Amino acid sequence: MMSTLKNFEIWFITGSQHLYGEETLRQVDNHSKEIANYLSQSDKLAVSVTFKPVVKTSEEIYDILAAANADNNCIGVITWMHTFSPSKMWIRGLNILHKPLLHLHTQFNQYIPWDTMDMDFMNLNQSAHGDREFGHIMSKMHINRKVITGFWQDDEVIKQIDTWARAAVAWQDWQGAKFARFGDNMRFVAVTDGDKTAAEMAFGFSVNTYAVGDLVKVIESITEDQVDSLIQTYEESYELATNIRPGGEKRQNLRDAAQIELGLTQFLEDGGFKGFSNTFEDLHGMKQLPGIATQRLMQKGFGYAGEGDWKTAALVRACKVMATGLPGGNAFMEDYTYHFDPKQSLVLGAHMLEVDPSLANGKPSLEVHPLGIGGKDDPARLVFEAKGGPALNASLVDMGNRFRLIVNEVIGKEPLNALPKLPVARVLWQPLPDMKTGCTAWIYAGGAHHTIYSQNLTTEHLQDFARIAGIELVQIDANTQLSTFENELRWSEVYYQLHQR
Ligand code: MN
Repeated sequence: MMSTLKNFEIWFITGSQHLYGEETLRQVDNHSKEIANYLSQSDKLAVSVTFKPVVKTSEEIYDILAAANADNNCIGVITWMHTFSPSKMWIRGLNILHKPLLHLHTQFNQYIPWDTMDMDFMNLNQSAHGDREFGHIMSKMHINRKVITGFWQDDEVIKQIDTWARAAVAWQDWQGAKFARFGDNMRFVAVTDGDKTAAEMAFGFSVNTYAVGDLVKVIESITEDQVDSLIQTYEESYELATNIRPGGEKRQNLRDAAQIELGLTQFLEDGGFKGFSNTFEDLHGMKQLPGIATQRLMQKGFGYAGEGDWKTAALVRACKVMATGLPGGNAFMEDYTYHFDPKQSLVLGAHMLEVDPSLANGKPSLEVHPLGIGGKDDPARLVFEAKGGPALNASLVDMGNRFRLIVNEVIGKEPLNALPKLPVARVLWQPLPDMKTGCTAWIYAGGAHHTIYSQNLTTEHLQDFARIAGIELVQIDANTQLSTFENELRWSEVYYQLHQR
């Protein structure tokens, strides 16, 4: 997993024209350079910003946007019209641009210079109408972009740019990404299934199936020394249950789990995969269902979801990339059990084993217990509680003719009571605007029981991501009202019938 996103660049492109003469264009160039450098050096912006010379003709616009397409470090472009840049000049370039675009509707000067403003100043500082001309052609061409309005040194503006930039990096990370699927979809489950070819066309990542037998071969090639060394890491990092300490009756199960983790890691790294999915129904030759292996791989940055759910696995990966460097975690989650207390209704989220320790509040305990399904040896898993605080659930579903991303803002809660007999990590939250509305809206929208649970992303991150991908985003938050929500879904359905990409 990346530790910083600063080696990704946004290109800062300013539009103008030859009408104003050399002196004005020189000032436009200098001002743009100053803005780009200010943004690039901001510690509030996760990526770098690269100044590009001001574009003044259709040819220059086409060339810079074609170069942005071809540059692997360029995750997107910021456009700004300091002066007027007649936007018919932009049509040919925008037609071929396939990197994310942010239209920064800003102005070089923060305030009107009341005492000194003359016609030269008016000639140079025309963003208020130059950016409207640019916005018009983007709307006419149905180009998905983010528009941010405000002074470029304003913290709120920079925070919005950062949000979009993080979504753009995650999008770049998906392009050409490979996800491995061991086994097929679990049983007859609908929501975890979907069109993998359509997903590759819409999102740029591929999902292909790999034989469990080939994975088992790699697991069996792991040596006892490698296992010893990983067991030592376990002992340093977690609180081991008594029966898996040296000499304990389940010690061998822990060693088997470590061998699975080492084999799975090697398989994924050798194949260049960014995530995976598996199913407990297809584990032929494996001694136990990967528990701690999957948990630790997720914590390292691999996308994962259970039961063949490749869509959630890919979304988990994207959210982890988006949140690089932010405090808190992003995890594969499953709605499990409700607490219908009239005073405070809550959802308990967990999974059979695979809950991401990046959510953990304190040191997880490492335990081996029987698993009711799968018919394998007792698997090792990390058990912990999650931190509370603002969070969200997001679900990517295949609606048949398109993909839909559903987001529900929630409030994470600390555990109300201990759960001494539940041998799996768990999370508690309260959906917004309230339990009844949040869950009802989620079900009307067709949201899955599998989600990404994020402690550090906001709806705006996922809005930006959905806009870049050109897919529908359904938002369930403090303002959601069921009386209008159902109609929003119906209108959206019609929109996406009319605007097939
Ligand atoms: Mn599941």
